[in-house]
Amino acid sequence: MRDAAGALGVLDLQGGVQEHLDHLRRIGVSARAVKRAAELEGLAGLIVPGGESTCLSRLLRLFELDRAIRHACDGGLKLWGTCAGAILLAAENLGEAPALGLIDIAVSRNAFGSQMDSFSREILAPAVAQEPIPVTFIRAPKIVRAGAGVRVLLELDGYIAAAEDDRILVTVFHPELTPNLAFHRYFARKCGLEPGGADQSLDPGWTPQSWMRFSHRA
Ligand code: GLN
Repeated sequence: MRDAAGALGVLDLQGGVQEHLDHLRRIGVSARAVKRAAELEGLAGLIVPGGESTCLSRLLRLFELDRAIRHACDGGLKLWGTCAGAILLAAENLGEAPALGLIDIAVSRNAFGSQMDSFSREILAPAVAQEPIPVTFIRAPKIVRAGAGVRVLLELDGYIAAAEDDRILVTVFHPELTPNLAFHRYFARKCGLEPGGADQSLDPGWTPQSWMRFSHRA
């Protein structure tokens, strides 16, 4: 399937695909799910969503999407990995083999503990937005090292939570599971697209899914 230039894709193998597609729709950006290598063609950027990184990494190899994504990235495709997606994009995954290995960071998986230790909080990332941004951490990794070409966008309590280089954005949390659209707008601009205004924000009836009953940290 071909797209007009300027569309974004969301890797659709496993994990939080629909939430990213919904947020991209809300900022007025053309977006579609990507299951096969050929569907990368014509995309300005690809979101690698959260999910389970071991499972995602096997599926990437099985469908030969690992090579295709590396190749597309060399050709200018921008990438954003959220949580498991950030693990897949990292050059170093402590104690495990890296998957795509495209950004010079080291990650430590499940660094906050079990699924029950998941939480939501507000962060300030001035490069992304002036106002506080609510984000959700679900059995998240920590970025424990960022290489020379990597800009740190957010550092919290002794670890890096968001970073980027010229091609790749990584966040250890999930902005797509909150009402906030700032990171999606930021990534769209990184891909050379101009997102829509605040009038295309959330459905008034938006509520977190019932499975997201996390404690809220200040
Ligand atoms: N704990 C998962 C992993 O290591 C990541 C969780 C997530 O993407 N929310 O793959």
